[in-house]
Amino acid sequence: MVPQALDTDILILGAGGAGLFAALHAHKAAPELSITVAVKGLLGKCGCTRMVQGGYNVALAKEDSVERHFMDTIEGGKWLPDQELAWQLVTLAVERVRELENELGCFFDRNPDGTVHQKAFAGQTFDRTVHKGDLTGIEIMNRLAEQVWARRINRLEEHRAVELIKSTDGSAIAGVLFIDMRTGDYVFVRAKAVLLATGGGPTMYRYHTPSGDKSCDGLAMALRAGLALRDMEMVQFHPTGLLAGAHTRMTGTVLEEGLRGSGGFLLGGNKERFMPAYDPKAERATRDLVSRAMFSEIRKGNTTPHGGLYISMAHLGPERVRKEFKGMVERCADCGFDLAGGLVEVVPTAHYMMGGVEFAADCTTTLRGLFVAGEDSGGVHGANRLGGNGVANSTVFGAVAGDSMAAWVRAHGAFAPPYVGKVEEAIAHCERPLSVRRGDLEAIRERLHDTMWERVGIIRDGPGLTRALAELDVLDAELEHTGIGASARAFNLSWHDWLNLKSLVAVSRVIARAAAARQDSRGAHYRDDFPDTGALDTSAYTSIRAEGEVAMKPVAFTRVRPGQSLLKHAA
Ligand SMILES: Cc1cc2nc3c(=O)[nH]c(=O)nc-3n(C[C@H](O)[C@H](O)[C@H](O)COP(=O)(O)OP(=O)(O)OC[C@H]3O[C@@H](n4cnc5c(N)ncnc54)[C@H](O)[C@@H]3O)c2cc1C
Repeated sequence: MVPQALDTDILILGAGGAGLFAALHAHKAAPELSITVAVKGLLGKCGCTRMVQGGYNVALAKEDSVERHFMDTIEGGKWLPDQELAWQLVTLAVERVRELENELGCFFDRNPDGTVHQKAFAGQTFDRTVHKGDLTGIEIMNRLAEQVWARRINRLEEHRAVELIKSTDGSAIAGVLFIDMRTGDYVFVRAKAVLLATGGGPTMYRYHTPSGDKSCDGLAMALRAGLALRDMEMVQFHPTGLLAGAHTRMTGTVLEEGLRGSGGFLLGGNKERFMPAYDPKAERATRDLVSRAMFSEIRKGNTTPHGGLYISMAHLGPERVRKEFKGMVERCADCGFDLAGGLVEVVPTAHYMMGGVEFAADCTTTLRGLFVAGEDSGGVHGANRLGGNGVANSTVFGAVAGDSMAAWVRAHGAFAPPYVGKVEEAIAHCERPLSVRRGDLEAIRERLHDTMWERVGIIRDGPGLTRALAELDVLDAELEHTGIGASARAFNLSWHDWLNLKSLVAVSRVIARAAAARQDSRGAHYRDDFPDTGALDTSAYTSIRAEGEVAMKPVAFTRVRPGQSLLKHAA
């Protein structure tokens, strides 16, 4: 099958905060270049940036400082973040929020004196989260999309990237192979620079928060292209996902942290509180501790009818709950629960991947011409991401990537000759489910969810991880022999489900391998058989490729060492 061919100077995969910021910055820096944003969904309507509720961390207030934001990020990340990337995050977040407000047209909530309102978020020593009510992501994405639409930036919507194609000598990126989801045709786009910004997305867990278009495609493509991923064992779970049964996609969606923060109780199936037995801060402990305690109670069998736990708010007064958590009360009511006066079933839910492609501060990777930004990248957050640092990460590094790609194409830009054999191989791989006998994809998905939730989730151990790796091998082999039983290509969702599952299984394997290699417990990663944190001074991060051993690489404490703080020197 011969794909259609297109050329562009800069090709951006993904249209979240990272992808759209990259497009705008590249266009501003080099308006003569052709820029194309290719996205699995519709531009502005898909991905997780749109789902951001809480807000954006940035040190704006005069009592705050970038040093304080940096220290919160490093300590929250349990000393695993790359300190240069974290520094870039906190310093450039200030510029990006100003750009969002003054150039792109976002209206964030304000104080009576006209300054930007900043609210408290867990794990931070200062109230620095900028927001637009609790719909911050919609404000950011709508404004970014409008700005992209208004410029000469090409769009390939409902185009799914399926393979990064290198040059014939393997030294550089030459382009990307896509499926046009509207027709099922293959499209090969040649590009001088490519940005990977498909946003990770831990949707391989039974309960998860990210949007349905996210299936770790970018990470799976990066692995196949031979790139190293770091921190892949670090998957963040949010404690209070809604649990409303298997029939609804509302299951797994987030009930916001403020419910626990304002005094909500978590109850077992026996309707008694259990958190005080786990941590003195009880329900107000950090996300990782609360998720772990909840998972332990679930394992003990102290569960609700759907196998989760309860959140109870009624003791705060139903009127107050209705007033302060209007959106959450409505969301629960849609699923038949009374948040203000009754009990709501909840379960920890996979939320964010701290791990991703290893990259430098200018967003370059080890493959010439390939750049990475946003949730596809690894190293900014270490073992834990602070709430509010996710959208800061995607917008800050998206902008850096746009600037870097523009400069790179101007300086070195030439199309590399694509390795055509790889295009043919990738097409043969994608065609597989159209040619083998029809099987049950849903059953494979259920087993993937179960394996990842039970053995590679909130509490892990060596034997469980070994078993998980064996199960993932079996699932991958079964997928190879599972067809979709239909040949129609246009909007064939079963076909895309098969491709989603292939990506998810590949990335699940590296999560499990990295988790097996890390023999300590830090942040989001907890090993029952290695519960200690280990020495901070000799902290190392996992670095993994599709093949070979997991390497443990020492963290370079380029700005501050464990036990020290930048705050002494801060203004
Ligand atoms: C419910 C929820 C609430 C959140 N709240 C907050 C918050 O309050 N504060 C905060 O800082 N962070 C929050 N986050 C995290 C935050 O949303 C992400 O960190 C960030 O938005 C990721 O941006 P991104 O551009 O990397 O990815 P995304 O915004 O997810 O964009 C990824 C893009 O890639 C596209 N794509 C995927 N696969 C392919 C493919 N194969 N080919 C082409 N395109 C592809 C997708 O369609 C999408 O357009 C939240 C996340 C969720 C799920």
